[in-house]
Amino acid sequence: MSSLTSAALAITLSALAMTVIVGVRYLIVSGAFAAWTRSRHPGLYVGLDRQMRREIVWSLASAAIYGIPAGVIAWGWQHHGWTRVYADLHTYPLWYLPVSILLYLVAHDTWFYWTHRWMHRPRPFRLAHALHHASRPPTAWAAMAFHPIEALTGAVVIPLLVFVIPIHPAALGVVLTVMTVMGVTNHMGWEMFPAAMWRGHLGGWLITASHHQRHHERYGCNYGLYFRFWDRLCHTDQGIGTFKARPSRDARAVDRGGVLRDADVAAGGDAGR
Ligand SMILES: [Zn+2]
Ligand SMILES: [Zn+2]
Repeated sequence: MSSLTSAALAITLSALAMTVIVGVRYLIVSGAFAAWTRSRHPGLYVGLDRQMRREIVWSLASAAIYGIPAGVIAWGWQHHGWTRVYADLHTYPLWYLPVSILLYLVAHDTWFYWTHRWMHRPRPFRLAHALHHASRPPTAWAAMAFHPIEALTGAVVIPLLVFVIPIHPAALGVVLTVMTVMGVTNHMGWEMFPAAMWRGHLGGWLITASHHQRHHERYGCNYGLYFRFWDRLCHTDQGIGTFKARPSRDARAVDRGGVLRDADVAAGGDAGR
């Protein structure tokens, strides 16, 4: 086998392995939070089976779009020393570890805010972003339910940043964990953080489910990913949303065509308590 063929094979395997890792990570994290939702707020996802199946299919397609560039770069890092990922913990002072995590999150948030805002313009929205908003309401499975164009805008971020900002693999692991967990929990339909946090001073700057919920209610606001900085600076921040509780089967049977008020149904109603 020529060296070119063996390199192509190794790159393909690396891309495949990374796709599987991203896909399995999604299934485990979304599955865990969906299970937690079922026990905390039974009935919240009732009647959404078809939507959740669709969310899973699109999310797994996104896993390949995320996994392929990541796999190519992981191969280049291992074999050719590409990127500024450093394996020796003492290459930089230890204080740089949390700083690098923050730099990645801020950079990702900035990229996300502006590409997300662009995708809310009429044409890009119809083409690339309507699919994500077709989840009404989104569930824990919607974390990566993106059109391939939108998935591509997300997939290039970390592979580009590793060429610019030095990071240790452990710090990168933290960044990816925050990315995955916040992606899932921001869509799961209830607030897992204590109200003191998301209503308090910290919540004025950090994005949790309550903030992203408003984006899914009103569309033209709350575009950020982790921080409210850009939304506040650009006057697109419209505060935190309310979780419209979904009726359980029993509540629906009682309702029989009447209009259910939010207060009538318990599921999700204690969000944030
Ligand atoms: Zn969303
Ligand atoms: Zn959006």
